[in-house]
Amino acid sequence: MREVVNKKGVKISCLSHNNAFEIFNSSKSMNSYQQQNNSIKSNSLFAYSAQCNFSGLKYPLTWIRDVHNGILSSVVSDTSTKWYVLLDAASFASTNDLDLSIYKPDFVCLSFYKMFGYPTGIGALLVKNDSANVLQKVYYGGGTIDVSLTSELFHIKRKTLHQRFEDGTIPFLSIISLKHGFDILSSITMDKISKHVFSLARFLHRSLLILHHANGKPVARLYCDTAFDNRNIQGGIVTFNLMRPNGEYVGYMEILHMAALFKIHLRTGCFCNPGACQRYLALSNKEVLQNYEAGYVCGGSADLINGKPTGAVRASFGYMSTIKDVQTLLFMIKKCFVDGPPINKIPEWWLDHKRALYKKCYQRDINTKDVTNYVANDDMNEITDKLKNMKKSVTHLINDNPFFKLIMDTSATKKKCTLEQLYIYPIKSCGAYKIIGSWNLNSKGLEYDREWMIITSSGTCLTQKQHVNLCLLNPIIYKDRGIMQLHYPEMPTMDISLNGSPKNTINGTVCQSRVCGHKVQGIDCGSEVSEWLSSALGLPNLRLIRQNDNENSKTELSFASQAQYLVINKASVSWLSDKISDTGFQKDTIIHRFRGNMILSGCEAFEETKWKHVYIGKNSFVVTGPCTRCQMICIDQTTSKKTVEPLRTLTEQLHGKMRFGIYLTKETKEDGIITVGDIVHIL
Ligand SMILES: *Cc1c(COP(=O)(O)O)cnc(C)c1O
Repeated sequence: MREVVNKKGVKISCLSHNNAFEIFNSSKSMNSYQQQNNSIKSNSLFAYSAQCNFSGLKYPLTWIRDVHNGILSSVVSDTSTKWYVLLDAASFASTNDLDLSIYKPDFVCLSFYKMFGYPTGIGALLVKNDSANVLQKVYYGGGTIDVSLTSELFHIKRKTLHQRFEDGTIPFLSIISLKHGFDILSSITMDKISKHVFSLARFLHRSLLILHHANGKPVARLYCDTAFDNRNIQGGIVTFNLMRPNGEYVGYMEILHMAALFKIHLRTGCFCNPGACQRYLALSNKEVLQNYEAGYVCGGSADLINGKPTGAVRASFGYMSTIKDVQTLLFMIKKCFVDGPPINKIPEWWLDHKRALYKKCYQRDINTKDVTNYVANDDMNEITDKLKNMKKSVTHLINDNPFFKLIMDTSATKKKCTLEQLYIYPIKSCGAYKIIGSWNLNSKGLEYDREWMIITSSGTCLTQKQHVNLCLLNPIIYKDRGIMQLHYPEMPTMDISLNGSPKNTINGTVCQSRVCGHKVQGIDCGSEVSEWLSSALGLPNLRLIRQNDNENSKTELSFASQAQYLVINKASVSWLSDKISDTGFQKDTIIHRFRGNMILSGCEAFEETKWKHVYIGKNSFVVTGPCTRCQMICIDQTTSKKTVEPLRTLTEQLHGKMRFGIYLTKETKEDGIITVGDIVHIL
């Protein structure tokens, strides 16, 4: 908006936070600014936000009246201007009652997703009828005019204000949904929401305030202008940075990533509040520009520059937030960012600070006795009690959840793991072939692993996602006879040559999540197997194609989606199995649902999530990453029946992180041999 009015040569002043409070708290009589209506020569607009979306500070709504009374005329040294107020209530209105019968700004803007969580992209500009005449719209779009000429610069805008501003097709579906949002908020009432978010935020603020590293140094640096004890001046937002025991800042990106592991979505950076950000982080204009030179951009990941934060972490609460959310956040901070057993203590500076804040907020009618009472009447004991209770519930959470235990357990126990079972899946997405003894490793992985795939008449790869019965198609490799034999219930077997000469090469477009759209070249295995597949699976025109043994093919992967070897730790499977309460569920089917190549035994549950390098026998592998799971694991690979387990339990136990098993890539390209019973070494 500043940029728009600047084009008209309008004078713009930016009131700093302190400056604004000084002006509005000044005890000068309002009357000295009273406007003389007959001498008005210009219009002026004061825009401010009802609640700071950085710190949650609520700016006084009484400022509206003061501005209308001309308190800012001194700032512009002009008493002949008429003052209007634009109240940015986007943050405020989502958790507070804004009573426009008491406070009468000329314009209010707000944003609906902030109030209801849905829909995005629409908000409202409320305009006081008396002030509508000063809103001059220059451009126009469809639906906002009564008449226009195309060959002349002529149009007449709609008479009704809102019609004048509704350019183009309005988002009518989103608008319909607003009713439901308002219904919900009215049924809860804004007052309850306001109390709720405030108490959650206060609890978080207090907990962070008293949290210290074992060496007594504070864990959090809070950015707040109030003592968090008055809902009239503080909303449900807590903004902070974390500090290491040596006093250095933790970058917000690190906190963001750790929080994500705990299923917490945090907003970090400056949250599109450059002014507040600069003030709270004490960054001069020069520093901001230097940071920009050094790579900082809004929304970017340069979180610390020369050890100084470029932004912060914000927890803002809404009507759906719960105390458990706060506990999870605190739990994450304690687990990941507190050094040694945490110490809870009220910082020495707190009472003085509180006193100073109180004086600032109530400057107009300050009374020393009030301050003393106010400071003495602290809610710290209450908070300490709450923390004690919370500790109990959190301990309970840790003991019950091995996922958390793992994060805490930094000293990996090195036990004897062995390769217990070895499987290949010769045809992508079809049955497994269990290997007895030794098997060759080549540059693409285990020999024959996912070397074939079935493509449909439209040229896409057929997978169990579309056709569960694929798991019943079992290939058996007879190396000595040079064949792969296909088995399917109630079908005669079908032999395919392992060394067969290529008949014709066809191109198929594989459309499967991670290889989507990538052209893979393969050799068609002929019409006989094609007919066999079509009658077994009941789908027309299926073709079996084998990966082209083209040495200069760019990717060294076979038709596998991600990497060469998928490793499953039997101990992790047992852990998961124990968690499944459904007694009707066949637990011995779990391990095969993960379709691993290598099944390890004798390891600790989930220790694989920390591995970086793995030696199996004489082969060295790098861990490429975890395997992300989907509903494929709900298919019982022996019967092709779908169940909700183990995905339900996996999601529940791992808090939505549907990861199970790890991918390995062989470190060198030389061929190797792997043998069932090989010892697994972890580096
Ligand atoms: C969120 C917010 C905005 C921006 O609203 P959008 O609808 O996301 O564009 C503006 N001002 C304040 C105070 C806000 O909190």
